[in-house]
Amino acid sequence: METPNHREQQHFLLCPLMAQGHLIPMVDMARLFAQRGVYVSLITTPLNASRVRPAIDRASRCSGLPIRLVELRFPCAEASILERSESLAMLPSTELLKQPLERFLSADRDFPPPTCVVSDMFLPWTLDVAQGLGIPRLVFHGTCSYSLIVMESLRCHRSEGPDEEMVVIPDVPCGLEMKRGQLPVSLSSVGIAEYEARIVKADADSCGVVINSFDELEAKFIETYEKLIGKKAYNVGPLSLCEGGVQAERGNKSSIDQDKCLSWLDSHEPGSVVYVSFGTLARLGLRQAMEIGEAMKVLGRPVVWVIKQGKEGSEEIELWVSRFGEGLDWLVIVGWAPQVAILSHAAVGGFVTHCGWNSTIEALCAGVPMVTWPHFAEQFINEKLIVEVLKVGVRVGIEVQMGLGEEVLVGRKEIGVALERVMDGGEEGERRRRRVGEVGEMAKKAMEVGGSSYVNMTMLIEDVRDYVNKNVVVNGH
Ligand code: UDP
Repeated sequence: METPNHREQQHFLLCPLMAQGHLIPMVDMARLFAQRGVYVSLITTPLNASRVRPAIDRASRCSGLPIRLVELRFPCAEASILERSESLAMLPSTELLKQPLERFLSADRDFPPPTCVVSDMFLPWTLDVAQGLGIPRLVFHGTCSYSLIVMESLRCHRSEGPDEEMVVIPDVPCGLEMKRGQLPVSLSSVGIAEYEARIVKADADSCGVVINSFDELEAKFIETYEKLIGKKAYNVGPLSLCEGGVQAERGNKSSIDQDKCLSWLDSHEPGSVVYVSFGTLARLGLRQAMEIGEAMKVLGRPVVWVIKQGKEGSEEIELWVSRFGEGLDWLVIVGWAPQVAILSHAAVGGFVTHCGWNSTIEALCAGVPMVTWPHFAEQFINEKLIVEVLKVGVRVGIEVQMGLGEEVLVGRKEIGVALERVMDGGEEGERRRRRVGEVGEMAKKAMEVGGSSYVNMTMLIEDVRDYVNKNVVVNGH
């Protein structure tokens, strides 16, 4: 029986990292929680708020969901530099948001008292906020269980040695060996060891983990991961399939009119188009872009190619690609592409990707096989999952982590071979397409009412309720 103290109305504080690859899935997650009747406050800075406002407004105004944006300013003169920084070295500065958040919460009368913090792993200070409120903190790492096992394993078993040496990663079901140079670098190597220690401690003191994946894809991996960390991990994805998600409204405003993009795709045969995009952080140099361009020209397929602006040399690339692509059946998007809409279109038959987890799971949902081109972070581990475990991709052949801004040049010949195998590849290509198609079907089922991720989300909400109610009884408030 319920006591009068029971907090029936749940209110989750979602705290994403200010980087598109972390923010976008949390916006989807926010919408999903709100669809399940949970009040949701998405906590972010003004620049990032401006990116996601259309999606949040639509959810709250048009769909009537209990969801809002809470904008916090860095309390200092460097606010705009901090907000725009894509460097890992700025992570410790995010702690400057802690006091503004606490002040906001103590004055807030619009939403019920918070019952849970769901925080990006890179914001360890949110643990103090959760503990101050006597509510649980759940962590979001933005990647899959497979990669999380490897990273957890590396924390205990990282070894020194040459980049090309093969390293056995313990703990991974079905075994995994990787070149040392492909393993993610630690935060200590970029000079923020202390912050890394705080992240590890905050993870350890949190109540569980939320993952943008689904049981059917990673059953044995999530089980192993839960054993390693000794707590519950909830697969609630693929988040890009969240019902009501408007595909064009993901991240930045699209640089191309979505209808124009879709009608270009409509005019092409199913499975004929190659989509090339390396996410939000990885950048190509001009020489690399030229090798890709030459390989594409020889392949002779229609291409959608996304080129990111704003880094040194990007204008040169833009100019070269637009000249080189003249007369070719290419759609070049400079800036932000409506990626989920593109991947979901039947004309797209292959995706050249940097293996960021969001891009990977979006391709899996759409049933699109991949040419894998990892750059940094856990992207090489995701590549292993794509190529060796799921067998839905072909490596372009990168052997070492690149780091932001660095480049490992891949020649047109290697690119061409990988593209040929993914786009055509006879029986091998057919098998790959069938497999990824099946994964896509499973993904959709997982998100339906009664599907595995739907049920996991119910369980998560119930577990938080139990936690909070126990705490209320113990503390008597
Ligand atoms: N994205 C997009 N349009 C773009 C570039 C990226 O919609 O032009 C989205 C993409 O769909 C994905 C996210 O941005 O949801 C990128 O996340 P991912 O983990 O793939 O890579 P990151 O950029 O974090 O390395």
